[in-house]
Amino acid sequence: MSQVRSRPRRIAVIGGGIAGLTAAYELAKLSSLEEPLHVALYEASSRLGGIVETIREGGFVIEGGPDGWVSEKPWARELAIELGLEEELIFSNDDERRTYVLIDGILKAMPGGMRMMVPADLAALDASDLFSSEAKQAFHQELGRAEELKKQAPIHDESVAAFVRRHFGDEVLDKIGAPLLSGVFGGDVAQLSVRAVMAPFVAMEREHGSLIAGLKAREATAGKKKTPLFTTLRSGLGTLIDRLVAAIPHEWVHLNVETTAIEREIEGWTLSTSAGREQFDVVMIAAPLHVARALLAPIDDRAVELMQMDASSAVIVGFGFDDAAKAPVPSGFGFLVPPDSNSLLLACTFMDQKFSHRVPAGGRLLRAFFGGRAAERVLRCGNDETAAIARMELARILGPLPEPRVTVVRRLPLSLPQYAVGHLERIAELDERLRGLNGLWLLGNGYRGVGLPDLIRDSRAAARAAFGLAGGTGKANEAPISA
Ligand SMILES: Cc1cc2nc3c(=O)[nH]c(=O)nc-3n(C[C@H](O)[C@H](O)[C@H](O)COP(=O)(O)OP(=O)(O)OC[C@H]3O[C@@H](n4cnc5c(N)ncnc54)[C@H](O)[C@@H]3O)c2cc1C
Repeated sequence: MSQVRSRPRRIAVIGGGIAGLTAAYELAKLSSLEEPLHVALYEASSRLGGIVETIREGGFVIEGGPDGWVSEKPWARELAIELGLEEELIFSNDDERRTYVLIDGILKAMPGGMRMMVPADLAALDASDLFSSEAKQAFHQELGRAEELKKQAPIHDESVAAFVRRHFGDEVLDKIGAPLLSGVFGGDVAQLSVRAVMAPFVAMEREHGSLIAGLKAREATAGKKKTPLFTTLRSGLGTLIDRLVAAIPHEWVHLNVETTAIEREIEGWTLSTSAGREQFDVVMIAAPLHVARALLAPIDDRAVELMQMDASSAVIVGFGFDDAAKAPVPSGFGFLVPPDSNSLLLACTFMDQKFSHRVPAGGRLLRAFFGGRAAERVLRCGNDETAAIARMELARILGPLPEPRVTVVRRLPLSLPQYAVGHLERIAELDERLRGLNGLWLLGNGYRGVGLPDLIRDSRAAARAAFGLAGGTGKANEAPISA
């Protein structure tokens, strides 16, 4: 939609994580195809990618943030292919997929066929030693309670805890519900919105009452074709960032420039940055939620109120070992730690088993994850101390570990926003207010999804809408069922 203008339209993007870079990339495509634009992407730090970072050392490919994306959502794959990375796409080794849960100091395997907390295979559930006979009975009874559950489905949003408890009871919530969700959505299942983070399961309840019945119906229509659960890039997700950056005109990108304020003018916006003041027609804020909130504070009190959500921190420690046999782990993708366990860890991924091409021949790559209150404590420690705590916690669970060849520590403060009950309504109202502000967009993981595919879809839609090609930023987060 080209318009005749006296000067190119000026668009600012604040933040160079995946959300900001994707928006700038989409604008670069539109700028060359449709109408020349003047775009400035301001990144406060000295590197692009934000939470996404791949460290390659000694033959190990270590992710400092996300390690892949859920294959069910197409938007990250589409972008990777568009950027010429089709050959780089690799998939999780689902034949080896097994996740363990730490119970009384012992790793117990989750039954095969679980889709989050819902079993697709009741025989595997019965054979598992993770759940008590009461919990197994609760699963079996859920099928028989379909009509009652359908009738009692609440009209309003509720917490993940309330939803899981209504279907399967406390034990299932504590053993797998809480650890599965707190690692992804940074939080407390008693606060998290079921509609924002488990939308497909809410839809199943509405249609079938029983989630087990809903899952069976879904798998029957999906047929035998199995999509791998997770996708990543052979050389690491940092390559996606590199390709995005290569496709954005380099004069658009300003590293080490922090945006400190935005002001609304009669026409457009003035941005104050550590490099000076500049005027723009459109501002896309893709900085973390707490930064966006501070920038909006002088502009719209109600918007800031709607953005008042907690965010938790994460600390990641990757250990690369030369000899896998000296750092043995059970077959599978890793383990989860329920909140009340006597461990500081939230989870650990056996990276070399989850994906191929992560280690040199014969190597082992473990990635420990601290979240919640433990992460807040560990954040204050130096690298050596953090690595020592992680190694000690892992050794208590897995047995003695040798000296690693490579150790990587990454601190990600306030990186996991918590979508609390009522999130979707708040974001709908926030979007409405933003439309009234004319030329202001909020992107990133605080609003319409936290995963890479959601962020990519949302940023591309926003860039196109800001350009005048389509309305809105698409639907709010739809969590997949295959986490
Ligand atoms: C530990 C962890 C593991 C994860 N694992 C997965 C996974 O496996 N799969 C998946 O799909 N998702 C995963 N996620 C989620 C996903 O990685 C994040 O939601 C996503 O990377 C966030 O991108 P973003 O662009 O919104 O924000 P960020 O990556 O935080 O980028 C924001 C950028 O803004 C910059 N900035 C801040 N303030 C300013 C300012 N004032 N001016 C200019 N710039 C500023 C920052 O320096 C940063 O570069 C994970 C998240 C975490 C924390």
